[in-house]
Amino acid sequence: MVERVTHRLDIETALYRALERDEVRLVHQPIIDTRLGIVVGFESLMRWDRGDSGTVSPAEFIPVAEETGTIVPLGSWALLDALTSLRQWMDAGWCGAGTTVSVNVSARQLHDPTFVTVVSEALSRSGVPADRLWLEVTESVMISEPTQALSALRQLNSLGVRVAIDDFGTGYSSLSLLQRFPIQRVKIDRAFVNELRADGGSHSLVRTIIAMAESLGADVVAEGVETVEQMDVLASLQCHKAQGYLISHPVTAGQVAEVVARLEESPAWRR
Ligand code: C2E
Ligand code: CA
Ligand code: CA
Repeated sequence: MVERVTHRLDIETALYRALERDEVRLVHQPIIDTRLGIVVGFESLMRWDRGDSGTVSPAEFIPVAEETGTIVPLGSWALLDALTSLRQWMDAGWCGAGTTVSVNVSARQLHDPTFVTVVSEALSRSGVPADRLWLEVTESVMISEPTQALSALRQLNSLGVRVAIDDFGTGYSSLSLLQRFPIQRVKIDRAFVNELRADGGSHSLVRTIIAMAESLGADVVAEGVETVEQMDVLASLQCHKAQGYLISHPVTAGQVAEVVARLEESPAWRR
């Protein structure tokens, strides 16, 4: 336990410094539409290069950042950085006219009273239209302070920003809560995608999630697609948007042109 607490403290102290030391960066994972054969967007994911300690996984430092509140400045930085990159890709002609970026947002950020302002300022500073930004939130934001979260998401929606529910199916949200939330996209968690086999398996569960998303008027993205078999099953269930290692690992902002060209010209995700 002492070791664990020390490790945590260690992360916490270093995290405060990480932003000003330029140790935090974003990588971007393409989301494709298999029917259209194009890259429709990128999910921006944080990486922390901690010198001699190597690259720390967000699975390790995001929970600490959430607990300590550092996620608020970190998250604001990520929003602006992701939008600035998208602006650069747009200007350089690296991506299509409708390409979007998706940024993960923690409950703590959403519950911060300045969040809506932070988002709208990031949009105006980067010059990216609001409908090119997706915010990914998990079911947990609906549970802790639903009224505050609901109000922030409604305001963001009215700016034109869209909201995706992340890791769908792993949380505890009720259908009635989901219905009250302005959600335009559902992301099927990797755990369910992972179970998809040509001969059955979790088809009915995924089919139900897709039907539910449709009834909410939301589109569907499958996460963590690793095999052609999973991709085929998803297509047969009418899910045509996907991201995962089969398509591409997350890449740096500078690799985006190359990855879009590769994915759109010789689609490796097809047999
Ligand atoms: P997430 O939002 O569910 O992001 C997807 C995670 O799955 C990413 O891990 C991605 O690299 C990984 N992934 C993508 N395709 C595959 C695949 O085919 N197979 C497998 N096994 N994994 C795949 P990553 O980058 O380590 O991020 C972990 C989590 O950390 C994210 O999960 C998200 O919850 C959180 N996170 C990352 N960046 C941010 C951020 O900027 N803000 C906040 N609040 N959270 C972030
Ligand atoms: Ca996500
Ligand atoms: Ca996810």
